Formats: sequence, structure tokens, C-alpha cells
Amino acid sequence: MRYFPVFLDLDRQRVLVVGGGEQAAQKLRLLLKTTARLVVVAAEACPEVERLAAAGRIELVRRAFEPRDIAGSRLVIAAVATDAEAVAVAQAAAAFDVPVNVVDRQELSSFITPSIVDRDPVVVAIGTEGTAPVLARRIKAMLEPMLPARLGQVARVAAAWREAVARRIADGRGRRAFWERFFAGPVAERIVAGDPAGAHAAIEAAIEAGIEDAAAEPVGSVVLVGAGPGDPDLLTFKALRALQEADVIIVDRLVPKAVLDRARRDARRIEVGKAPGQPSARQADIDALLVREALAGHKVVRLKGGDPLVFGRAVEEAEALAAAGIRYEIVPGITAALGCAASVGLPLTQRDARRGLTILTGHATDGAAEHDWQALARPGQTLAIYMGVGAAAHIEARLLAAGIDPATPVTVVENGTLPTQKTALGTIGRLVETLIDGGIKGPAIIFVGAHPLPRAVEAVPLPAAIVQPASPILLEAA
Ligand code: SAH
Repeated sequence: MRYFPVFLDLDRQRVLVVGGGEQAAQKLRLLLKTTARLVVVAAEACPEVERLAAAGRIELVRRAFEPRDIAGSRLVIAAVATDAEAVAVAQAAAAFDVPVNVVDRQELSSFITPSIVDRDPVVVAIGTEGTAPVLARRIKAMLEPMLPARLGQVARVAAAWREAVARRIADGRGRRAFWERFFAGPVAERIVAGDPAGAHAAIEAAIEAGIEDAAAEPVGSVVLVGAGPGDPDLLTFKALRALQEADVIIVDRLVPKAVLDRARRDARRIEVGKAPGQPSARQADIDALLVREALAGHKVVRLKGGDPLVFGRAVEEAEALAAAGIRYEIVPGITAALGCAASVGLPLTQRDARRGLTILTGHATDGAAEHDWQALARPGQTLAIYMGVGAAAHIEARLLAAGIDPATPVTVVENGTLPTQKTALGTIGRLVETLIDGGIKGPAIIFVGAHPLPRAVEAVPLPAAIVQPASPILLEAA
């Protein structure tokens, strides 16, 4: 991130706008939402700027810009006609160390302004660092219908009640439960519906409930969440929700940062599991950590790559939680085999040709895993082998010995669904060479039985999540 988003307090601050044309008027419309003192320096002004000056909403200085105009300004916006003027304003602002934005001239600007969705005092600012203004506008268009017109009122009512709530619900946990009810329940719903009396009654009920919550024993919970194979857009809505509500997130090191970026920002994060070259946390220690955090009354998310029930050691964790009397829930994730297959276009089954899919591991606690190789070597099926890179020689030898056709197709997908995804194609008779030639080190899935389907055009990018229909997450009750 090169540009850091901030909300600047402009109350009674001088903001200088250089230029009096249509572009200046546009900027003034935005600035007039604030309580800043607006000064416009322009030799000529358009009718809108003239009207604002006549109404006393801005101070209009009718002459060409001079560097001394900058003095005392908090911000400078240049909406000028010529290049020379733009450069002059930018240089003067730099000399006075005042942030400047030159309209449509990012290289001359020390700040840029975001697209905004305004539900004052709730403001959503959207920035693309100037790379894609059209994209910013699309995101804005998507957000507008999601955020009710009275959202700002919801925030104002919350502010008005803050002190009274703090007085009446002394306990922090009870207060937090109250605010959760406030924003996701009938309170926000009544405010959005324009029913202040109903909102007031709902607030009183929520305060009573909050006091009861505070008196009850803290009960923590654990959600075992599947993070999917890596692409954050493959998280389920349920997973996203759990991540947004978590107090503590206990995460495998393999889960990419892009996925964690979707989690509640002030949740505590604890990394466990394998990191290259470092000792991995023991499963028993992870079990104990989960129990300890839940007993402390926290909402714990145990985030695992792929699906928690597929080679995810969820069983040990679930047993430990049950033994300690802690509630837990399991949220499925897209397991690596499914993510990888979709990503390369590999059919896992095929009518009449391949009638079954077997998911298996290449690795066992004591080395390469053993299986019923005779059954696995039979034609007419797909194998999806997890943790198989290190055991490739063993897998190849066992399947060949069990009579598999050496020409059986093999597809290996490394870091599937991630930007670093790599694919290697070969046959089971040359599995080890296929991995070496493809430079595959893992994590990877070895598919036996199929190659990807041909594609008309290579790598057609799927529409990004932003074009999907908007769903109101913030105010479900609204
Ligand atoms: N619970 C996980 C599997 C954990 S075992 C799931 O359901 O996907 C770890 C193994 O999963 C790795 O050794 C590798 O075989 C596979 N794996 C996980 N993420 C992967 C990815 N993005 N691409 C390819 N294989 C992956």
C-alpha cells in the first residue's frame, strides 16, 4: 500500500481551492459536506462558484493564484486550466509542506481523494491508488444499495446511547453483546425503518438482555473453519462470518495472508503448525490452547487449510473440546483436491469412464503411507493424493507393481488456486520425472487418472467477486 487512508478533521480549518471552474465546483460540493473554511482563489468563477460566494458559503478571492495563498491552509486542491498553473500550485504547496491534490494529475499530488459512499457520519471511502477509477465507481455502485439511507442515523443513535449503556451494563462482555444486538437486531432495523419509538423499546430490551448476559458464566465456543485451498474468494459465507466474529484465531501457518485479511482486524491471531525449518506445534499443545482460550470465554476460530475434516486433524481437536465440555461447530471448506481440479479444469469423475474418486494421503506418521494398492491400480477411477510429493517414488512403484497401466495420465497441481499455482502433466509410469521436470515441491495434489480438459482459450479469468450481486452483510435485520 503506497497511499494510507485517513479521515482528516477539517473542522474550521482553511481549505484552499485554486480555480473557479466546473471541476472546482465539483470539489467544493464535496468539501461543503464538511465544516471547513473554504477559500477559492480564481480570476474567473463559474455561476455555481459565484452563487456559493454570494451565499457566504465560501470566500472567493478574485485574482490569479499566488504562492502566499497557501499559508495557513490544511489542504490545497488545484482545479486549474493550464499545466503551468498546476505546477505552480503543486510547487508552492510543497514549499509550504501542505498536502495538495491537483485534479487529474496524480503525479503532481501528494494526496488523492477516494470515491465515497456517504451515510454521514458513516463514510465508506474507496481507493484504488489511482489505478482504476472505474473500478472504484463500480464498488461504490455495489455498496450504495447495501447501506440503508438511515445508516448514519443508526450510528448517531448509538453515539447518543453510549454513555447510558456504559453506565447500565458495567461488564464489558455484556456491553459487547448489547452492541452486537444493537447493530444486527431489531434496534437497527427500527431505526432504518424510521420508527424511533420502536427503536427505543428495542434498546431497552437489549440493555436488559445485556445485563443478563453479563451475569451469566462466560461461555466460549470454537468453530473449526475450513479456509479453502488458498484463494480467499473460495471462503464460504459461513467461514467469513465466523472470521468476522472471532475474538481469537488459531491458524495454520499454511493459510495465506490473503485469507487472514478477511478476518476481524482486532482478533488475536495465534499461528500454529508447520513452518519450514522450525519445529511444529504439537497437536496436544494445539488442543490444549483451544480448550484454554474457549474456557476463558472467547469466540475461538480454528482456521485450517482446505476442509477441516480432510486430513485436518479436526478429530483430535473435536475430542479435546468435547472432553472439556466446550461447544464446537465445523464449517466446511473447499478441500485442496476440489480447488485444484476446478482451477485446472480437471474432471474428477466422468460418465462411464471414471466412476469414483478416492482421496488419499501419500504420507503417514511413520513415512510413506500404505494402501490397498490392488484396488487403487484398477482403471475407471480417479485418485487425488494429498501429501504425496515426498512419497512419489513409493506411490509410483506400488501402483506399477499392482498392475496399473503405466500410461495412466497424471496431473500434479502445486499451490492450487493461489497466484503461485503450477501444473505438471505426465503419466504414472513417469511420476517422479514429472515432478522433477515440473519443479514441483509441494504443497501439491497428485491426480491419477485424468488430465485437464482442453480449454477454448487459455486461462479465462473468472469474473471477480465484485460483480457478484450485493448482499447486505452489515444489517441483516434491515
Ligand atoms: N485439510 C486440507 C488438507 C491438509 S493436508 C484440505 O482439505 O485441503 C496438506 C496437504 O493438502 C498438502 O500436502 C497438499 O497435498 C494439499 N494442499 C493443501 N493446499 C493445497 C493447494 N493450495 N494446492 C495443492 N495442494 C494443496
